[in-house]
Amino acid sequence: MSNLKSSRIEGLHKMPPEARLRAVAQQADLKEEYVDVLSAAASGQITLADRLVENAISSMAIPIGIATNMIVDGQEMLVPMATEESSVIAAVCNSAKRCRSTGGFKTSTSGPIMAAQIQLVGATDPENVRLKVLERFDEIKEICDTVDPLLLKFGGGFRDLDIRVIDTAEGPMTIVHIIVDTRDAMGANAVNSMAEALAPRLEEWTKARSILRILTNLADRRVVRARAVWPLDEIGGEQVRDDMLSAYYFADADPYRAATHNKGIMNGVSAVVLATGNDTRAIEAGAHAYTARDGWYRSMSRWEKDADGNLVGILEMPMAVGLIGGATKIHPTAQANLNILGVKTADALARIIVSVGLAQNFGAMRALATTGIQKGHMALHAQNVALMVGATGPEIDQVANELKSIGKVRQDIAEEILARIRSEK
Ligand code: NAD
Repeated sequence: MSNLKSSRIEGLHKMPPEARLRAVAQQADLKEEYVDVLSAAASGQITLADRLVENAISSMAIPIGIATNMIVDGQEMLVPMATEESSVIAAVCNSAKRCRSTGGFKTSTSGPIMAAQIQLVGATDPENVRLKVLERFDEIKEICDTVDPLLLKFGGGFRDLDIRVIDTAEGPMTIVHIIVDTRDAMGANAVNSMAEALAPRLEEWTKARSILRILTNLADRRVVRARAVWPLDEIGGEQVRDDMLSAYYFADADPYRAATHNKGIMNGVSAVVLATGNDTRAIEAGAHAYTARDGWYRSMSRWEKDADGNLVGILEMPMAVGLIGGATKIHPTAQANLNILGVKTADALARIIVSVGLAQNFGAMRALATTGIQKGHMALHAQNVALMVGATGPEIDQVANELKSIGKVRQDIAEEILARIRSEK
């Protein structure tokens, strides 16, 4: 348990970040070495951090690595990935290399269409409310488009209405979905503003009461699909292919397996989403909800063999990412990463992200169906364990190499190795 006397710090949000760090350190009785760590991490980052979040005291560096070998729709790509997990980037490089001979990843998309929900309650005639709203289509379009003239200028704006009457524990509710083309924006703020502007008018027209007015992260009108073919000789033969298919059928049938299978996909997806300053939680929520759209949780990907016996992978998921808005535009690292990608539209970025997710899934399934995940994972993890036990400089590689050679990447053994190395010096 922490020794914190009180979690109340008067006026913390009004202090400059350095004073905030001091105040937190004092309250939490933080050792000076940790204050130094946070101060050093804040260096060069704190002004931005302070603009992005409340009560900022520091910043946290996540490694950025490059996924090589990617070809997306015939275009060679270097893909920046931000992740703290070993093996993730290596797996994409390897998987992408193995499908280069068949042209890499081919993609398609349903377009940048988002939806916001307005919850209408308290009406005894929810079906009637539904029709009353539909009759106001033109006025609704006018209200929504007036909220965001800039979006209109870029070719986006209100597109449609979808109104559902749902049964809840509290009785029926009428849920109005406004369907909006958000172009190169993720669109959360755009559609939320429209929903808030529209809600009072809906109340006026229907006499129902509006409560929630917010986008849905189940962006099922903004679906991106990627597919790729891995030739049999790149997989390791028929047995490996069949075992990978078996791994897929397992994931598709069992939520315990599906959760981990899909986590592997999201290792790739979230790393590119984060590297480009997009909202990882929005993408994750949408991906998992879309996967469970038939009422049960299953594999996000589909796998088959083609007529020549090659392995075909397909990934189809909502991908609400933008190049405008959120941190994408104002985080210099996100901008630098977008420049490595060379993408000019949110649509192009979304296609790359889903392709990376598919590559990641191939890599994890192949490793699991053959040598197991630990072999590749542990090689990189050995370095982390060496660092964890306090190895520095050349000691890190010495400890890691020895851990790998004895095949046991364990902290207690790393401690022994480090102690021995130091005693031999
Ligand atoms: P935003 O409002 O910052 O930027 C979008 C706006 O930029 C558009 O509405 C438009 O006016 C303008 N714009 C300029 N050029 C454009 C172009 N080419 N295409 C489209 N729009 C253009 O950002 P946003 O995308 O509306 O919202 C994204 C942010 O919302 C993220 O930071 C996200 O974390 C946050 N958010 C998410 C949720 C959620 O996922 N549930 C909820 C609230 C907020």
